[in-house]
Amino acid sequence: MRTTAEIREGFLSFFEEKGHLRCPSYPLIPRADDRSTLYTSAGMQPQMPFFLGRETPPGPLTTTAQKVFRTPDIDEVGLDTYHLTFFEMLGNFSFGQYFKEGAIALATEFVQERLKLDWDRLWVTVHAGDPELKLGPDQVAIDLWEKIGMPAERIVPLPSSENFWSVGGPGPCGPDSEIYYDWGVEVGCAGGCLPGCSRCERFLEFWNLVFMEYELHRDGTLTPLPKQNIDTGMGVERISRIIQQVPSVYDTDGYQMIMAWIAAESGVAYGDSPDATKAHRVLADHGRGMTFIVAEGVTPSNEGRGYVLRRIIRRAAQHGLRIGMQAPFLPGLAGTVIEQMGDAYPELVEHEDEIRRILAAEEERFGETLERGMKLFDEAAAGGRITGDDAFTLQATYGFPIELTQELARERGLEVNDEEYTRLMAEHREISRAGVAGGNAQRAAEFAAAADFRTEFVGYEQTEVHTQVGALEELGDGLFLAKLRESPFYPAGGGQVTDAGWIEREDGTRAELREAYRFDGDQALLFEMAGSAGGSSFAAGERVRAVVPWARRHPTQANHTGTHVLHQVLREVLGDHVKQAGSAVRPDKLRFDFTHPQALTPEERTRVEQLVNERIFANLPVRTYETPIEEARTLGAMMLFGEKYGDIVRVVDVGGWSVELCGGTHVRSTAEIGPFAILSESSVGSGARRIEAVTAGEAFAYLHERSREADELRVELEQARKEARKPRAEVASEFEVVDRANGVLLVSASGLKGGPLRDLSDRIRQQEKADGVIVGSVDDGRAYLVINFAESLVGHGLDASALVRDLGRHIGGGGGGKPTLAEAGGKNPDGVREALTAGKRAVEDALS
Ligand code: ATP
Ligand code: MG
Repeated sequence: MRTTAEIREGFLSFFEEKGHLRCPSYPLIPRADDRSTLYTSAGMQPQMPFFLGRETPPGPLTTTAQKVFRTPDIDEVGLDTYHLTFFEMLGNFSFGQYFKEGAIALATEFVQERLKLDWDRLWVTVHAGDPELKLGPDQVAIDLWEKIGMPAERIVPLPSSENFWSVGGPGPCGPDSEIYYDWGVEVGCAGGCLPGCSRCERFLEFWNLVFMEYELHRDGTLTPLPKQNIDTGMGVERISRIIQQVPSVYDTDGYQMIMAWIAAESGVAYGDSPDATKAHRVLADHGRGMTFIVAEGVTPSNEGRGYVLRRIIRRAAQHGLRIGMQAPFLPGLAGTVIEQMGDAYPELVEHEDEIRRILAAEEERFGETLERGMKLFDEAAAGGRITGDDAFTLQATYGFPIELTQELARERGLEVNDEEYTRLMAEHREISRAGVAGGNAQRAAEFAAAADFRTEFVGYEQTEVHTQVGALEELGDGLFLAKLRESPFYPAGGGQVTDAGWIEREDGTRAELREAYRFDGDQALLFEMAGSAGGSSFAAGERVRAVVPWARRHPTQANHTGTHVLHQVLREVLGDHVKQAGSAVRPDKLRFDFTHPQALTPEERTRVEQLVNERIFANLPVRTYETPIEEARTLGAMMLFGEKYGDIVRVVDVGGWSVELCGGTHVRSTAEIGPFAILSESSVGSGARRIEAVTAGEAFAYLHERSREADELRVELEQARKEARKPRAEVASEFEVVDRANGVLLVSASGLKGGPLRDLSDRIRQQEKADGVIVGSVDDGRAYLVINFAESLVGHGLDASALVRDLGRHIGGGGGGKPTLAEAGGKNPDGVREALTAGKRAVEDALS
């Protein structure tokens, strides 16, 4: 029993011999009544109804090879040699039949007689007991292990956190006993360590035997179960690694085609650098995971299962690009997974087209923004921290799952401001819930009219106040209407959007603002309870803190004052006929529509941008005051045509140079606006134009990108000029047979790798009627090898996959494949000749 397939089959048939019914793997998607995990995470999970006695098992003893996916292990993948997200768990299950003695005897027989593992290298752990559960050490298990020949010093008691299994609440539970393989003191911690050590990889857990013997009650007490059960789980990848004595699960036979494909496709060998090692592992594991998940009909999304899928797809895509893969590569990766595993899992072959299509679409969607997102990340990282805003933008604009941003940050020893991120995400969601707000407008009006007080809007001066909830009305679903005594929240008006924000109780309970309704001199607010706290809402009379996050208010104010400055500058540059025709002031940009008969010339546009910035840098003071409307008129304040104003109006005065009637929130002096940049100028119907522009941080980011693009363009131009001057290189012949040995051709090629190189090896064999071919190729500064052998050569003891690994060393890389077709990639193009020479020698040695 050596290969993964043999081990899988050996396990199932061993337990069949012992009276177990062999059942096929249950799906990765749990049953509808199982809400415990998004994906099946253990062999016993789909059989839970049998353990609970709710359903009759297909037999009193069963055995399965279960496909599982462990979401909590995503971040581990890549960092160590044995944690996967997707893996196969072998298990034997006893429903009220044999118990500890039977389970331990069967496991021992299997590892000794069938796997022929070196007994001296095996250790076991048992439950050490738990005073909280009023349990002593699992003496029964200890005695059984000793009786069967395990020396006492290799039986290690571990606490409940490690060796007590439960469903996570009341229900069946019990101690467990794990079997470990010892790789030797040399690889352990200095001074020695024991199984369960998390600092080194000396001990590898490969099999867990769970003894379900108690029922946990709500009051925390245990009673014995009427029928005791056994559930065991053994990761097939881990046991293969042990049997094959290889350094990681990725080096086992079950991954060879996948690992070879990754090396060949990227031209970077597994183990080339710590980064490359991680990337290869992530691609191999996530590649398997995404293929199996999509095969069960899950598609990428922003929630639940779909989000987990999206996370691993995007994490894999990001790591692939890191080692120089050319997108799209995920469909090819899935293709290789299917080639490797399709025999054992026909559902993969059946759904191959769909799998490729869905992965291609998601990879493309992410690819469009990935590079720009990475740039943004690099810039933020250069500043020494990842703000919540960065993380938010990375997610909202560039599709980076927050976990990916956190991982990238961890790699550079940086922290992400999670709290700010969460807040911004909540605000973002609020926008998409605007529908809810609209539907409640009528109710809000009635609610406000019924209240016996008016809300005082204090948002001009303050973005945070302690105040009282004066009135409240529940709407259900965690939604409620409220009126605050004082409110910092600006309800949309005068082109400016509604503020985002929240109210918070002393105990931290929070409700997010979903909408602010504006009434004449009054307002009502729509809130939604934050988190899942659907029920426990706020009450009238309660004291709360009301907050508008400055990170959102400030850019809004900068854009609002910026709009006034732009308005006045347009009148100066284009003439007094310019009148405001509409505006939208948001935190991320501003839009200003105005009357003007034709498009701005490039000169006018530049002049406008320049003058606005000059006014900003002059740091003009911004004053606001209320005054009778007649007074405002004599001041020459700009008023909007068709707008109704009251007797008392609010005037916004920028340096005595721009005077407008406006109820919006503004910065205190123009320097706070920061840089101003025009994004676009366009037509909106006859006689009106529209300018979209950004200020503050958004403007800086935009200008930065503009200058970077210009730089790139310069470099490209320069290169194009150089190319044009170069004499055209001769078109190299596609390949050249440099030598031959016993019917095997040694060929040197260039400009080819991956699929095209494999195709070439087929073509050469056909054209030249050769039994085998070893092709070396250089492409884009990297070296590639393909070995293509007829079955007859394999019969003579040649193995392409073993040979390619050997030859791979000459090109500074590695690879693998099948005995008839294998490939390698590496970073040393100078080694191709040497590899071919060595290949010739190997062929001669084997065939003569
Ligand atoms: P670990 O402590 O190594 O994460 P675990 O305690 O989570 O393992 P169990 O939940 O007992 O493991 O799962 C049973 C068996 O499944 C393990 O003995 C191991 O062989 C395998 N296994 C568990 N997690 C993984 C994983 N992430 N990748 C590969 N195999 C795993
Ligand atoms: Mg684990």
